[in-house]
Amino acid sequence: MIIKPRIRGFVCITSHPKGCEAKVREEIEVARSAKKEGGPKKVLIIGSSTGYGLSTRIASAFSHDAATLGVFYERPSMKGKPASAGWYNSVAFEKAAHEAGLYAKSINGDAFSDEIKADTIEQIKADLGQVDLVVYSLASPRRTDPKTGESYKSVLKPIGKPFTNRTLDTDKNEVKEITIAPAEGDDIANTVSVMGGQDWELWIDALNQAGVLASGAKTVAYSYIGPEITWPVYANGTIGKAKKDVERAASAITAKHNCSAYVSVNKAVVTQASSAIPVVPLYISILYKVMKANGTHEDCIDQMVRLLNDHLYYDDMKLDDKGRIRVDNFEMAPDVQQAVADIWPRITSNTLYELSDYKSYQSCFLSLFGFGLDGVDYDEDIEIEIDMPSSN
Ligand code: NAD
Repeated sequence: MIIKPRIRGFVCITSHPKGCEAKVREEIEVARSAKKEGGPKKVLIIGSSTGYGLSTRIASAFSHDAATLGVFYERPSMKGKPASAGWYNSVAFEKAAHEAGLYAKSINGDAFSDEIKADTIEQIKADLGQVDLVVYSLASPRRTDPKTGESYKSVLKPIGKPFTNRTLDTDKNEVKEITIAPAEGDDIANTVSVMGGQDWELWIDALNQAGVLASGAKTVAYSYIGPEITWPVYANGTIGKAKKDVERAASAITAKHNCSAYVSVNKAVVTQASSAIPVVPLYISILYKVMKANGTHEDCIDQMVRLLNDHLYYDDMKLDDKGRIRVDNFEMAPDVQQAVADIWPRITSNTLYELSDYKSYQSCFLSLFGFGLDGVDYDEDIEIEIDMPSSN
């Protein structure tokens, strides 16, 4: 099949296996060039197929030679349609890990369910005995509570009053104004149920109870703070409440188990999750311009290499006053934020390409689905049904 990008709003409904592999291999090279002793050895990554979770898996394996077990919810190729990008990414990751002699297996299913937790535990018992690092990197629009069977939807809304600001219409490449109505009813509670820390706690409880969590293990979940322009819809919005709950869960896990739980506040990057948040893609486009100009720009893999090498597995974790790891430090540097704030009021559809790095935003977005990678022949007729190597 010859596969071309088919973009619908903030998703691309096709993905390219060879392009996904090329992108995974690029990240592997970054991780390989940052090899370090003393890192994690056996790592469980929940949400390991795209974005920050995938990069943490790559950094664990290729900077630290760690065995990795990945959990994700992806669509294999079906009925002549390409698989989801996360499926192809995971195929490519496993292939490269196996070539390097590293253990890598994957579990595809709903991480919020008891069943997938049980399957994961069985796999750890069978192959690894115990894990010493658990990475929690889920980004999901919904969750079914395994105990009550009730389903919740998360929403990206301000709290208390409507929020109006500029946003990017990525279909039309236009800057326009958007007004988002405030949360109502159970919006906040539902968003906390989906994106808060409860499921992370359930995972650690289950792993510990089954005896598959090594004594003194570490666990990390990801958060975002960002600049004031995004606070109404992010840090002070429904998702911000969920992220506060993740911080609560970190303290609860550390108090309850022989396992240190951390929240790492990461930089804004282009991922499937972040492209769905109003205002954020415009902010990212400006941020990339500013950070590239001053030489501090990073992608997911650079962030995750730094997280493991300079924080989680470094004598001084450099925690902030709330006990969080801050790999968003370059993004939040006052000069970077001032430069973004100076550009923000001047950004219009006419100045979009000049004042921001929207071009990079677009190419990063396409690359999430394996398009636009160097060395890939996009006119080639290729096989789209590809099995997960560890399932053979
Ligand atoms: P992403 O969309 O790239 O990845 C989400 C992952 O979750 C995928 O592996 C997907 O398969 C998995 N997933 C979703 N629902 C699942 C389910 N029910 N069962 C199993 N797996 C499931 O997202 P991302 O941007 O990498 O976000 C990961 C974390 O990083 C989130 O907590 C997010 O808030 C945080 N973060 C993101 C940014 C950013 O700019 N993207 C910045 C800071 C923090």
